[in-house]
Amino acid sequence: MTFTKRTHNCGELRTAQIGKTVTLNGWVDGRRDLGGMIFIDLRDRWGITQVTFVPQHNAEVHERAHELRSEYVLSITGTVQGRPEGQENKDMATGEIEILVDEFQILNRAEVLPFEIEDEVEAHEDLRLKYRYLDLRRPLMQKYAMLRSSVYQVVHSYFAEHDFVEVETPTFIKSTPEGARDFLVPSRIHRGKFYALPQSPQMYKQILMVAGFDRYVQIVKCFRDEDFRADRQPEFTQIDLEMSFVTAEDVYAITEGLVARMLKECIGYDVQTPFLRMSYDDAMEQYGTDKPDLRFDMKLVPLNDLVVNSGFKVFADAAQKGGTVTGFCVKGKAEYSRKQLDELTEVAKKFGAGGLVWMKVEAAEMKSPVAKFLSPEILAQIQSAMGAEEGDLLLIVADADKRKAQKAAGSLRLHLGKELGLCDPNKHALLWVVDFPMFAYNEEEGVWEPEHHAFTSPKAEDIEKMDTDPGAVRADCYDFVWNGNEAASGSIRIHDSAMQTKIFERLGLSDEELQEKFGFLVESFKYGAPPHGGIALGLDRVVAILAGLTSIREVIAFPKTNTALSLMDGSPSMVDERALKDLHLDIRKEEKKP
Ligand code: ASP
Repeated sequence: MTFTKRTHNCGELRTAQIGKTVTLNGWVDGRRDLGGMIFIDLRDRWGITQVTFVPQHNAEVHERAHELRSEYVLSITGTVQGRPEGQENKDMATGEIEILVDEFQILNRAEVLPFEIEDEVEAHEDLRLKYRYLDLRRPLMQKYAMLRSSVYQVVHSYFAEHDFVEVETPTFIKSTPEGARDFLVPSRIHRGKFYALPQSPQMYKQILMVAGFDRYVQIVKCFRDEDFRADRQPEFTQIDLEMSFVTAEDVYAITEGLVARMLKECIGYDVQTPFLRMSYDDAMEQYGTDKPDLRFDMKLVPLNDLVVNSGFKVFADAAQKGGTVTGFCVKGKAEYSRKQLDELTEVAKKFGAGGLVWMKVEAAEMKSPVAKFLSPEILAQIQSAMGAEEGDLLLIVADADKRKAQKAAGSLRLHLGKELGLCDPNKHALLWVVDFPMFAYNEEEGVWEPEHHAFTSPKAEDIEKMDTDPGAVRADCYDFVWNGNEAASGSIRIHDSAMQTKIFERLGLSDEELQEKFGFLVESFKYGAPPHGGIALGLDRVVAILAGLTSIREVIAFPKTNTALSLMDGSPSMVDERALKDLHLDIRKEEKKP
C-alpha cells in the first residue's frame, strides 16, 4: 500500500505553521460528529492534533470521514489553521491550531476495542496485559516507557564518561546461586544436561575483573524462579557493575553519581551527595527493617532500660531475655477508637507481634490497658523517651526475640505511615545500609547461609570470628535504599581462592559440590585476581520510583502476572511431544495426593 508519509508528527504543530500544508500519520483518538463538521483527534507518540473535516471545504472527503472510528490508522493532508477564537484548548500543546483536511487515507481499520485508550483506564489489569499493545498506546504508558528509555541513556553515557566497559555476559550459563531457584534450559545436544538462566551475572563480572577489565557495566536481564510474591517478576533487569582496586567507598561514589544524574536528568530532581549511611543494627533498631523509608519520621524507640525492672512481666521478660520492647509515637492519634486499636493489634499480629500495647497521652494521665502494671514514673519516662505530647498515641511491641519485635513494630510503622499519608510523594529519601551480618542461620535446615551471597568478603576485622562466632561476622556489603525500597545491593568480593574456599566450607558445601558449582571461579582466583567489588541496581524498581509508581509492571513493556504468566502470548505453554523427545524429556503425570 502506498501512503502519504507525514511531514510532521502529531505533537509539534503550532501557530507558526499556520497556512502550511502538512501531512500527519496517526490513530483516531476521538471523534466528534457535529452534523456539519467532523472533528478527529489524531494521535501518535508525540501528541494529539485536532483535524477538521468541513463539508463546504471538501464535500467528498467530509462524506468519507463519516466512516472513521476510534483507533483507525490514517494519513491526513491539510492546511494548518488557527482555531476560531474561544475554541483554543490550553491543555493541549497543539491546542491553538487545527488541520483543515484536504485529503486522507485510511491505512487500517480497527475493531471495537476491549477498553478505551485513555490514561484513566478502568479495565482490569489482566485485560490490559492480554491486550498489552493497546494498553501501551495509552500516553501515560508511553511516558513511562520513555522515562525508562531516558534511564538507559543516562546509564550508558554516565558509565562511558567514567571509563566503564560494557560487556555482555551469557544467558545460558552454569547455575549462579543468589538464593533463588534457577530457570533451567535442557540441552538437546548434551543429553540430560541443562543450562541455567542467570540469576545475575555475578560470577562472570568477577571473572571480567580477573581478566583485567577493571570497570564493567551491563544493563542485563536476570532470572529467578521464585514463589509468587507481589510485585516480583521472574525476569527483571539490573544495572550491573563491577570495579577493580576499589573499596566500598568507591562503589558508593559511583552509584551516588549515577542516581543523582538519573534524578536530575530524568525527573529534574536535585539531590545532595553523599547519601546518608546507616548500619544494619541502627536501621533495625530505629525502623525495624533493613530498608527504612525515611520519607517520614516516626522512629522506633527501644524502651528496654526503662522497663527491664518495671515488674510488668510482658515487658520485663522481653527485656531480660535478650529481646526488646520497642514502639513509636503516632502524633495526634490518641483519638483512635477501641475498634481502631483492635484492628491495629490484628495488623501487628499479622506482622509477627505477640500483641500490641497502646498508650494514649491524655491531659491528666496515660491511658492504657497496661497502665495499672507500670508506675507513674515509668509511664512518664516512656512518654518522654518517645517524645510524646498530649493527644499522641504510643504503640509498643515486646518480644524475647529482638528482631521479631523490631520487624513487627517496623512493619506497623510503615503500615500507619501509608495509611496516614505521611510520605511526601515529592520527596526522595536515599541512604546506604551497611554493616550487615555475613551469615544468617537457617533454623529449619540447621545451616549458615550468606546474607548477601557467597562471594561477599567478610570485614577484615571480623575474619577471626568466622569459626568461633559466625553470627557476629559482618560482611563488606551494602544496600542502597530508595524511598523504602532496596534499590541496589552489592559488596566487596573475596578475591583470594583460599578465603573463597573457606567461606564455601562455612556454608556447608562439600569439596565436590564446590568443585562442581564454583570450581571455575575459585580456579580463576589462582591466577592473579585483583581486589574488586560491585553492585547491581534493580532497573525496573528504579524506573518505577522515578515515575512515582509502586508496581514495576507499569514500567515493563511486557510483564508477567504475579503468577508468572504472560497473558498476551499465553506462556508458559505446552510443547509438542516431538520437542520433548528432542530434549530427552518426559513430563511426569501429576502425582495423586494420598
Ligand atoms: N549479584 C548481586 C545481586 O544480583 C549484586 C552484586 O553483588 O553486585 O543482587
